Amino acid sequence: MNNKRIYLCLAHMSEDGMEQKYIKEAFDTNWVVPLGPNVNGFEKDLEEFVGEGKRVVALSAGTAAVHLALIAAGVKAGDEVLVQSFTFCASSHPITYLGATPVFVDSEKDSWNMDSDLLEEAIKDRIAKTGRKPKAIVPVALYGMPYQIDRIMEIANRYDIPVIEDAAEGFGSRWNGQVLGTFGEYGVLSFNGNKMITTSGGGALVCPDDEAWQRIMWLATQAREAYPYYQHEAIGYNYRMSNICAGIGRGQMTIVDEHIAHHKHIQRLYEEAFANVNGIEMHRAPDERFDSNYWLCTVLLDESLRVKGQEAAYGTQVQGAVGGAGGVVHLSDSLHTDCEPNANVEAMRVWLDKKGVEARPLWKPMHRQPVYQGAPAYVNGVSEAVFKCGMCLPSGPCVTDDDVRYIVESVREAME
Ligand SMILES: *Cc1c(COP(=O)(O)O)cnc(C)c1O
Repeated sequence: MNNKRIYLCLAHMSEDGMEQKYIKEAFDTNWVVPLGPNVNGFEKDLEEFVGEGKRVVALSAGTAAVHLALIAAGVKAGDEVLVQSFTFCASSHPITYLGATPVFVDSEKDSWNMDSDLLEEAIKDRIAKTGRKPKAIVPVALYGMPYQIDRIMEIANRYDIPVIEDAAEGFGSRWNGQVLGTFGEYGVLSFNGNKMITTSGGGALVCPDDEAWQRIMWLATQAREAYPYYQHEAIGYNYRMSNICAGIGRGQMTIVDEHIAHHKHIQRLYEEAFANVNGIEMHRAPDERFDSNYWLCTVLLDESLRVKGQEAAYGTQVQGAVGGAGGVVHLSDSLHTDCEPNANVEAMRVWLDKKGVEARPLWKPMHRQPVYQGAPAYVNGVSEAVFKCGMCLPSGPCVTDDDVRYIVESVREAME
């Protein structure tokens, strides 16, 4: 019996306490502000890591990076932005912040990411319907899996629409050997507590050149003009990363390669263990061009798979929101929605929870979210079908080989 609880993806610090060393340095030198040597150092580390001559601005959140990239791409109220539907809400919410409209694009079956044929269909149809081109394209590296960026870039270039890569979950994933976030005009990174590396909370925007970098830096620091007093000629944001958080980031950059290797290792263990289990299918890279960091390991449960307790699935009200979002007391008024994971998936989640294993449903597609009711969507049924039979299993540096054996054993026990 396993006595510890196994979480989905926990933050993990370096063995030699580099994070604390950088934080202490910030205190000792009184750089306890949203700029300073750690921020500069972290940005340098990130630039080195992503390569391709890109510049990086460290920000307070990945969501802030999406927001600023959209602004830099010229998105304004009334515009439309094409965004992958199968994603976490941070990819699309900033479109709404700007008074623009997200146009959701469904996924391809193999990678679960933006379907390029649907993307082109959507572009043509939006131009036909509105007489205007969408202002940006936002593909998402869901669970770390690369999107087919060569096909997306070909279409984007042909229609001259900037691409903002949401690589928040795909930090260190590569397409054909090149790091995600460096193909499009901008690349979004996230260092939230459960991502590939963490700064407790934080993000960054990968920028194409010095000029773009300057502009993002200016927007992230309240758009101050060069005068001895506060002079504002545009609206800016307070989005710069704190020097304390950046200290954690610098420490984390010393172990990022280890983290990625461990995530891949855990994925391989699951693949081997589930290879001959009927009804369970690991999601994996379609071919060697897709070099996923396997931020989260995900499985599909066949609809016909019987799981203990599935008759009672969804029978009781869940307390709090997914991921233990702080202070969420927004009680739902029903046990069901019109688009939810299959009963066997929910039963498996509850079974694993009782076994001390945190599993989670896949992200519910944005085009099925009530808040985006009425937003245009170009769908082929893939993301909804995958959402209904998929789940995320624990991954990352805190999950051991023994944990994987225990999790797989627990999954097998749940099967009738
Ligand atoms: C985490 C995440 C972001 C950014 O989130 P922050 O929590 O604001 O750093 C953006 N897009 C996706 C797909 C994510 O998973």
